[in-house]
Amino acid sequence: MSAARTIPFFNYPALFADREAELSQVILDVCRRGAYILQKDLSQFEQNLARFMGVKHAFGVANGTDAIWLGLMAVGVGHGDEVIIPSHTYIATAAAVHFVGATPVLAEIGPDHMLDPASVERLVTPRTKAIMPVQVNGRTCDMDALQAIADRHGIMIVEDAAQGLGSRFKGRCAGTFGRFGTISFYPAKLLGCFGDGGAVVTDDDAVAEKLALLRDHGRNADGRVVAWGFNSRLDNLQAAVLDYKLGTYQDDIDRRRAIAARYQARLGDLPELALPPAPDADPRHYDVYQNYELEAERRDELRAHMERNGVRTIIQWAGTPVHQFHELGFADSSLPVTDRFFTRCLMLPMNTTLSDADVDYICDHIRGFYGRAV
Ligand SMILES: *Cc1c(COP(=O)(O)O)cnc(C)c1O
Repeated sequence: MSAARTIPFFNYPALFADREAELSQVILDVCRRGAYILQKDLSQFEQNLARFMGVKHAFGVANGTDAIWLGLMAVGVGHGDEVIIPSHTYIATAAAVHFVGATPVLAEIGPDHMLDPASVERLVTPRTKAIMPVQVNGRTCDMDALQAIADRHGIMIVEDAAQGLGSRFKGRCAGTFGRFGTISFYPAKLLGCFGDGGAVVTDDDAVAEKLALLRDHGRNADGRVVAWGFNSRLDNLQAAVLDYKLGTYQDDIDRRRAIAARYQARLGDLPELALPPAPDADPRHYDVYQNYELEAERRDELRAHMERNGVRTIIQWAGTPVHQFHELGFADSSLPVTDRFFTRCLMLPMNTTLSDADVDYICDHIRGFYGRAV
């Protein structure tokens, strides 16, 4: 028996196909000008991104992982320092900490799947240099609670907002709370380009100056090398594509929030599921739904049932939170909340190419699995 529909988790060809004529024009224009590296499309995108987020400086870099790594270097995190991060994150968050010579210290998540302030508090030591919340799934952490801990101990906040572009807490954008914040433009991210891309944002002029040097061989505006640096520039071609897409990005956010509301309306009565917070559940939070990550009873059976019906789902980070990577030296850490979460979590399709009928089809099959009327 073949499924009535096939719903991919993410529709990569649609990234281009949905606006092929306009995007072709953008790409041709850049190529005809021969404007590939550090050109006006990049600086224009950086200005527009900074304005969108309400922050002073934005730097396009090669990818979201470099963004964290360069940010940490720019604020002086290094050897002997500890950085507290959630274990529920991509390995990239921990790897960036590792590669500046610091130690990633892994914390629990709370009921909303975000870094748990109580867990952070327990992990602070005299070596803690920074707390790095991850604005996972398009939601922003309770930054008041985290800032209070940081203030009490005299440590800084830096943010992995790879999944958080446009998400807000009390009106302020994810990525703008810390000394720096980072964004990823990986194709399946909220604002995706046609390859790798990332950005670091900051309000701090001194950090901005360091970032400008770090991403371009330590060269200042005159082209003179004044510091050690790397090559981690966002391609001008990607920047042009991103700048074009940023122009209508609010429409994408609106669509994601409408899909989340539809999932909530169709699935909210099932006791077997714990859904992510609904779009209007808490006036302090404005979520942009990079992902729709729920918790489900009999998760693996549900996933197989959805697969049989043509619906592709994903378990985030291929099912492994960072503290379970024993090969990387995390053998001692025990995080029971996160461990339990990873036996239950599942991401349903969440992207702007989903139709309402797709969402209904997904919900019908979930309800059917738990024996509920559709
Ligand atoms: C995607 C992602 C990154 C890394 O971004 P890349 O652009 O793929 O390097 C880092 N942290 C989180 C939470 C992410 O989701």
